Amino acid sequence: MSLFHSHPRPKKSSRRKFVFLGMFAPIARVSARKPEPGPGAVPLAQPQKGRTPVRKRARVFDAHLHCPSENGQVWQWHTVTKTFEEFVAYLDRTGVERGIINSVRCQLAKSPQEFIAGNREVARYAERYKGRFLGACVVNPMFIDEALREMEYCRKQYGMVWVGELCNYTVPYEYTVKEFELLVEQAVKLNMVLDVHTELEEMEFIIRKFPKATIVFPHFGDGNEYGHIFKRIDLVAANPNCYLDTSGYGHDRVGMLEYAVKSIGPDRVLFGSDFSINCPATVIARVEHAFLTEEQRRKILGGNLEALLAKAGWKEA
Ligand SMILES: [Zn+2]
Repeated sequence: MSLFHSHPRPKKSSRRKFVFLGMFAPIARVSARKPEPGPGAVPLAQPQKGRTPVRKRARVFDAHLHCPSENGQVWQWHTVTKTFEEFVAYLDRTGVERGIINSVRCQLAKSPQEFIAGNREVARYAERYKGRFLGACVVNPMFIDEALREMEYCRKQYGMVWVGELCNYTVPYEYTVKEFELLVEQAVKLNMVLDVHTELEEMEFIIRKFPKATIVFPHFGDGNEYGHIFKRIDLVAANPNCYLDTSGYGHDRVGMLEYAVKSIGPDRVLFGSDFSINCPATVIARVEHAFLTEEQRRKILGGNLEALLAKAGWKEA
């Protein structure tokens, strides 16, 4: 996920400014906007006076977790959860019951040996915490032969159905390269879900180029949060093979979750936190206070991810 990650990344000024942009967004433009309903457009719950009612929380299933590596690599701006056990304990504190994990070791890998080692770690954690965590495979397409083999191995050996989060800026590479196309083709062939971190232009390219892939785009917003957030949501709304996760910037802007559900529909918005970088409790709080129906809330917090995984052939442990 963009600059929320704790490691050095290429210095592109446009990606570094956005934290502040929303603060100066013209309010009139927001209120004047008439969203175009997407194919799944649905009514939301009506705003009501008074406190948010106390309700039994739906089970939270997190589509976006970066787990620490055995070699001590953690994605956190200031490290407070160093080990996998501490990572799990924090999820317990926030109420995340299940999640899809990928390894920081893979994210930072500069060789096939490293991303393979990271995926093995993830497979071991998924086995040790069966029913709680699902492993995701992360590969570097710049080593395309090893990457394609590794995807197949993870699918067949470990039953992994998720590739990513792929973050091209950590490697770095462009999504327009031939190797990435081969990676996507492999994911389609293996019926795996692709989870790809993108800026808006990259998202547009990927959607246009790969209509057969099942793609999760993390983050409502990107490096130009206010300028792109509506466009990103509208793109997912218009493409039924695409999903959006709530992590990172955007979900905390009041109304954006409602806009996403209204335009995309309630079935393709996934709960994602991007922990260990961001706190899952902030996302849970917004989902719980949002003007959504109980059924929409249940779907976002976990039901949609279960349905997506089932489509990819995942069977609950
Ligand atoms: Zn992330």
